[in-house]
Formats: sequence, structure tokens, C-alpha cells
Amino acid sequence: MPLVSTRQLLDEAAKGGYGVGAFNVNDMEQIQAIMEAAKETNSPVIIQASRGARAFAQDNYLYHLMLAAAELYPQIPLAMHLDHGNSFETCESAIKLGFTSVMMDGSLKPDGKTPATFEENVAVTKKVVDYAHERGISVEGEIGVLGGIEDGHGAGGSGLDHVTDPDQAVEFAELTGVDSLAIAIGTSHGAYKFTKKPDGSVLKMDLLIAIHKRLPNTHLVMHGSSSVPKDLQDIINQYGGKLKETWGVPVEEIQLGIKNGVRKVNVDTDNRLAITGAIRKVFVESPEKFDPRDYMKPARAAMQKVVATRMVQFGQAGHAGDYTAISIADMAKGYANGTLVTKPLVGAK
Ligand SMILES: [Zn+2]
Repeated sequence: MPLVSTRQLLDEAAKGGYGVGAFNVNDMEQIQAIMEAAKETNSPVIIQASRGARAFAQDNYLYHLMLAAAELYPQIPLAMHLDHGNSFETCESAIKLGFTSVMMDGSLKPDGKTPATFEENVAVTKKVVDYAHERGISVEGEIGVLGGIEDGHGAGGSGLDHVTDPDQAVEFAELTGVDSLAIAIGTSHGAYKFTKKPDGSVLKMDLLIAIHKRLPNTHLVMHGSSSVPKDLQDIINQYGGKLKETWGVPVEEIQLGIKNGVRKVNVDTDNRLAITGAIRKVFVESPEKFDPRDYMKPARAAMQKVVATRMVQFGQAGHAGDYTAISIADMAKGYANGTLVTKPLVGAK
């Protein structure tokens, strides 16, 4: 299938009542792991690249690897998404390159660290929406500020410092016309999310449910949603790693989110852990080996296993064949003639 828009994937997910994992990539092996997992589970999928990934891999490598994935897996609906765009220019360059979807994270100033005002966030997000929709490209916005830092992006601190206010979420969705909305409910980026198994005091699922009630048709996005499973931490530490004990977002909480309007679930850390554990194991058990394939193959297989597991848990498994691609040109027409609704339906408080 040609690369499709995230908006189409998320509209279909809403119809089917499931979530779609959005997995971060930096290189070919990660793209291969995700596509094999999608094939194995017959899942539509979002592959996303952060600014850090674009700098690491170079845009052209990334884009052509994604085209190869679309060519090799014609049965899989696949969107290519920019994770945490920090400015209009970053989103514009991604769209010019061929990304089918961008996130404008206007919750932070362009430095990617300092929280922005509501007005600044609305202004830059709206500018990206106007530019993107004219070209058929979907936009994810963010209201509230996530905790932690990943790839140099983030405000740091606890995920509870700037949780999303439901009234502001409604106003933001109305003023910007975003296709999907990332909300801050206590989650953080990175491996060290929580120092104990998260409960209602740190992960605000009640807030998510309240936002969904107010915006019943808006696709919600959960960032920082790796589960940081103990078995993956253990493999790293068993083979010489030094991870401190940590907890991620339990899969049951993500599934509760999916029952309440979450359609895109961002996962990166779990895959990083799986890759690192598999490589460490080879280095320790077979120190005589030096062919990168000897450790990249098990690393890729370990990531595939995590991704396939999440695809089943999020409910996207089995849904790859539900629909055919809407071309990006037709998406642009849909935004222009109003058949693709961008004004959110607002529910009661
Ligand atoms: Zn994020």
C-alpha cells in the first residue's frame, strides 16, 4: 500500500474500537522489525521518526527505507509520522520530504524544553494544520506537557507538572482543527517513568476519561506509553547492564485508554530495551563474535516480538485488510470540501 495518512488509520481505529501503536525508528533494522510484526499480526501501523532520528539517519535514508517498507508490504496500511515537531519549519520540511503525518508539539517553545503559553501553542499548531491539510497531511497537536526528556526533547520533571485541562483541550481542538490530540495525564518519556507501579495518584486515567467525554470524536494520543517490562530490564542487567528499577505504563491502563478514545499509542523505550538486551546477551555469551549480523539479527527479532505483542494488546491485530488506502491527494480534497470533519464534536461536562 502507498504510505497513507495517520488520519485514515485513526478514523478506522475509532470505527473498530482499537488503538494503533506508533513505533519510533532510527534505522533499517527497526523498520524491518515493525513491518515483520505487522505482517505477522496483520496490523495497520504507524512508524514515526523524531527530530533526533532524522538527524541520526538523515532524512533521505529514512524516507527511502519507508518507501521500501510500503513496497514490500502492500497489504499493510502504513503511515509515516513526524514525532514531536518543534516548529512550523520542522513540520514543513517533513511534509516536503514525504511524511504523511506530523506532530506539532506546540506545548513547548521551539527549544523543545520551555513550556509555551496556550496562545503560542494554538497559533503555531493552527499554522501547521492549515499548511498540512492543504496537502492532505494529518496533524497531531499536544495540550498539557509530558514529563521526562527523550532525544533531547521534553520539559523534564514529573509528568504531573502540567497535566491537560479538559476545558483547554476542547478550546484547543476547536481553535486548531487538529486530527488527533496528545494529552498529558502523568506519563513521561524515557525508561524512568515511575518509581513504583503507577496507581491513580500518578497516572490520571480519570482525567483521560473526562477529556474523552468532552471530545468524544477526537482521536486521543498517549505518549510515553512503554510498559518497561521487568523481563526486558532483567535481560539487560543479567548481561552486565546497570538499569535502575523502574516502572512504565501498565498495558491494562493503555487498554482502558483505548476504551476511552485513545487511538494512537506511542512506544519507543520498550523496543530500545529489547534491542539492547539482545545485543548484550550475544556480547556476553559469544565474545568471539564480531559480525554485526550476529547481534543485529537477534536484536531485530527481540524488537519484533515486543511490537507484535503490543499490536495484539492494542487491538490493531487483524485489521490490516479492513480498508483500502485513501490517497494523500484525496485526503487534501476531503479537507478542502469539508467531508473530512475537522471541527470537534463537544460533549457535556
Ligand atoms: Zn512523545
